[in-house]
Amino acid sequence: MKTIALIAHDHKKDEMLNFVLENKDVLAQYDLIATATTGKLIKEKIGLTVTTYLSGPLGGDQQIGSRVACQKVDIVIFLRDPLAAQPHEPDITALLRLCDVHNIPVATNAATATLVLQSLRTKKD
Ligand code: PGA
Repeated sequence: MKTIALIAHDHKKDEMLNFVLENKDVLAQYDLIATATTGKLIKEKIGLTVTTYLSGPLGGDQQIGSRVACQKVDIVIFLRDPLAAQPHEPDITALLRLCDVHNIPVATNAATATLVLQSLRTKKD
């Protein structure tokens, strides 16, 4: 089964929940992994099964980055907050870099994430 990683900064968590709810049918067909708070919210509010890693500021982005480097992640959906400085900015940059190094699709806003999931729907048709 293919794996999708879901990460949302604090001001993007509602947007992530809306996105997951709208795409629940597709996402339910994948192994989902997430940083701690993002994953907890998706489990509690939407009921999908999610494997959680540490919170982003505590190393979760790096943990997911290591999964990307090991070719264990197929898509990363990372709803970043472009309007707030993050204490773990180097980890965020490192994760995005690894996605580029390994040619892993990475969506950093909901519009792109929607297009990526649409392509998954089309593949299955
Ligand atoms: P969180 O981590 O899901 O634990 O909030 C995401 C982040 O802030 O990078």
